[in-house]
Amino acid sequence: KARSAPNYLQGLNPEQRLAVETTEGPLLVLAGAGTGKTRVLTTRIAHILSLGLAYPSQILAVTFTNKAAREMKERIGVLVGGAVEGMPWLGTFHSIGVKLLRRHAELAGLKSDFTILDTDDVIRLIKQLIQAEGLDDKRWPARTFANMIDGWKNKGLGPSEIPEGDARSFANGKGRQLYQAYQDRLKTLNACDFGDLLCHPIRIFRAHPDILREYNARFKYILVDEYQDTNTAQYMWLRLLAQRPDNSRRQSGSPISPLAGEIGAKPGRSTVNICCVGDDDQSIYGWRGAEVDNILRFEKDFPGAAVVRLERNYRSTAHILGAASHLIAHNEGRLGKTLFTEAPNPDDDRVHVHAAWDSEEEARAVGEEIEQAQRKGHALNNMAILVRASFQMREFEDRFVTLGLNYRVIGGPRFYERLEIRDAMAYFRVVAQGADDLAFERIVNTPKRGLGEAAIRQVHDYARARDIPMLAAAADLVATEELKPKPRSALKEVVDNFTRWQSLLDSTPHTELAEMILDESGYTAMWQNDRSAEAPGRLENLKELIRSMEEYESLRGFLEHVALVMDAEQNEELDAVNIMTLHSAKGLEFETVFLPGWEEGLFPHQRSLDEGGRSGLEEERRLAYVGLTRAKKNLHIWFVSNRRIHGLWQSTIPSRFLEELPEAHVEVAETGNSYGGYGGYGQSRFDRADPFQNSYSTPGWQRAQQNRSEATRSNWGSRSGANVERIGYGEADSGFGAGRGSVK
Ligand code: ATP
Ligand code: MG
Repeated sequence: KARSAPNYLQGLNPEQRLAVETTEGPLLVLAGAGTGKTRVLTTRIAHILSLGLAYPSQILAVTFTNKAAREMKERIGVLVGGAVEGMPWLGTFHSIGVKLLRRHAELAGLKSDFTILDTDDVIRLIKQLIQAEGLDDKRWPARTFANMIDGWKNKGLGPSEIPEGDARSFANGKGRQLYQAYQDRLKTLNACDFGDLLCHPIRIFRAHPDILREYNARFKYILVDEYQDTNTAQYMWLRLLAQRPDNSRRQSGSPISPLAGEIGAKPGRSTVNICCVGDDDQSIYGWRGAEVDNILRFEKDFPGAAVVRLERNYRSTAHILGAASHLIAHNEGRLGKTLFTEAPNPDDDRVHVHAAWDSEEEARAVGEEIEQAQRKGHALNNMAILVRASFQMREFEDRFVTLGLNYRVIGGPRFYERLEIRDAMAYFRVVAQGADDLAFERIVNTPKRGLGEAAIRQVHDYARARDIPMLAAAADLVATEELKPKPRSALKEVVDNFTRWQSLLDSTPHTELAEMILDESGYTAMWQNDRSAEAPGRLENLKELIRSMEEYESLRGFLEHVALVMDAEQNEELDAVNIMTLHSAKGLEFETVFLPGWEEGLFPHQRSLDEGGRSGLEEERRLAYVGLTRAKKNLHIWFVSNRRIHGLWQSTIPSRFLEELPEAHVEVAETGNSYGGYGGYGQSRFDRADPFQNSYSTPGWQRAQQNRSEATRSNWGSRSGANVERIGYGEADSGFGAGRGSVK
């Protein structure tokens, strides 16, 4: 077979090649980070296509993000020479789910043009249902119930299938009834939520074996990336789709013929060609219902499955891999795996650990590192900042806007794209530039002032007819009888406000004016009165916005700056630093990675410790492992000694994960320029001169398995982590669950 291997096979190591060429039968690729699992999947698809084993439309391939799906498509195109005409079934579980559901919507009681509700819509709807039941929605928050529904759907459970205890725990036993009412309401609205995108197809397949058989016949090859993070519903969905069409005939008696245990053996027709790749150490969505057991069970689910292990990491330097391997070894209950990389290069940098006084300094220092790297010719595209919680992003974004350093936020909105920031900016724009109709329309009725569509249309038409700005039109109109009394007085207040603010523009310090505008317009109060979980974060963002204006001479100067930065960034091709949560960084890789905020309470996150205990901590550690293993060459970890959470300064202690990094691979950065004030740091690793010191330092931490001569080979065992006192964070940032957006 090896006579003249096609180009795309060259360069693969023997195990990778085996995984690519074992096209028939069930196959599990179980391997650590950066060993080429995703590359194997991509090459495998190219192989199947170029051997003509299936048409593109007969391959079902599941990636974890839409971005990953796009990249995979491109890569396959390159491998097979651009001849792939579409891969209609390559996407995330959800994007494939939508496609299936649109085809068979009527079987779920929907029309094919159904809408998909986002989380805000879902919560609003549930709130209505809770109120309609005569329940107090403060006692029984809609968000809580939305989470419960999400949890049930992750398990594939409909209203009649949820456990009795669960059903009883919400709203005095009305859980089941509310869930049912919610589903009914969705049907009436011709809508579904994200969970339904999997649950509806599962139900359709079960109720209509003929339809299922059609898909079983269609999908000759099934491939799944990041298999360790599939939840129960996804698992059920896969199991259904992975049935062979001829199974139905064979069901009585004989089991599916195994692959004879031998890789490369010609399989019987009834063998499922499913290939899943994953890494149990990178299972980071347990909090959202992912079941790492799915990967452990693969061989049982698919008898005769071949298992391929990849052990060579192609991504990271020996120092990075050594640090990551050592850290993850603190988890118990892992599958045994070996991971090695090329011999360490003496020029390779160790993992840098830096201390900063607070998050502002952290952002400034990271900005400096990035600018320095840029000056040396490194592309911004190759750098990433991975945060534990999305609130951490703001400080970096602010800093980068100030520096004029391009960045992009992956998996969520950028700071200046956030709803509350856009609203606030719209106010400022109208004050600075009265003819900005887009901005005016955005906020004329935000907060709600009783200006209905009709009144706004009137202003709009009046302005159009005379070719004047809407604000001027509004000023004219409120002096006439044309508007109804209520909208007229509301609009008059808007006009008067803007007139006053404009008159103050040149005489009042702009940050003061900005604050005044947000207060007097009622915009700040709008969020103060909002009880949603996002509201505190939005208020914080508004404060942050004002703070960042301090660095500019005038309101106009600030607006201009933001406009320029925003505009420049519209360009996808632009060289820009990547900012994202650790959760959305899965599967990605960058030359240089910055990991800020390694402090107890933030990382590991307090909430996961509180809710998950030991397994919560272990999931946090896997997240740290994911973060470390994203880096190819340079890795910088930061921790600060003071952090402001929800407006309150908290003194923090370094993350226990820092202590779990092996000394041989780590370099503690000297406290340079402004990082003074960090007492004990540097003398004995991560200690600081405070009462936590003793509880923190781990005596005799491991010096083993470092500096092996040619290769860093670590056989992962288990060890227990240090026991550390920690400081609680108030309410966890909403970004705790980040990653969700990008997943769907
Ligand atoms: P993760 O667990 O983080 O998802 P992975 O196992 O999917 O990682 P890949 O992303 O497929 O790993 O590969 C990691 C890097 O190593 C990529 O840059 C890939 O191109 C490279 N790589 C993989 N296999 C080889 C190989 N045989 N030769 C050279 N480079 C390789
Ligand atoms: Mg991968």
